[in-house]
Amino acid sequence: MDGCIFCKIINGEIPSTKLYEDEKVLAFLDIHPIKPGHTLIIPKKHFENFVSTDEEYLLPMIQAAKKIAPAIIKSVGASAFNFTTANGAEAGQSVFHLHFHIIPRFSKSELKDWPEMEGEQPTRIQIADAISKIYRESLI
Ligand code: AMP
Ligand code: ZN
Repeated sequence: MDGCIFCKIINGEIPSTKLYEDEKVLAFLDIHPIKPGHTLIIPKKHFENFVSTDEEYLLPMIQAAKKIAPAIIKSVGASAFNFTTANGAEAGQSVFHLHFHIIPRFSKSELKDWPEMEGEQPTRIQIADAISKIYRESLI
């Protein structure tokens, strides 16, 4: 897509530190790593986010992650990793071409845990019922 920085990486218009590539997937180091070895896995076709991505690209992305994650963490001496994506601006997405982050982790205390919810909350049963209803309606 015109103007998309990750499409430009796929097309070779801007450089990247590639570490894995196949027919549908590219993986390269994040330019502003949270930890050494912080890697992005992207589909070689433009999709805005996780939900809008064709399944024929999602499966190879996950297969690639499974193949390369052990090598990533071994190479930097990490013992674990986070596998994450931001779906939408409110979730922190800043590049609107789907990408999975693989973030090596060295100790549990080095990154902040997410805060617990504050204030009055709907019950878990109310939330689960609402999700199931909206999901079932989306199938019709
Ligand atoms: P997010 O904020 O979850 O959308 O993640 C976008 C990520 O892309 C950030 O971690 C950026 O550091 C990374 N990023 C942006 N531009 C580049 C680039 N040219 N090469 C590598 N990583 C990039
Ligand atoms: Zn793109």
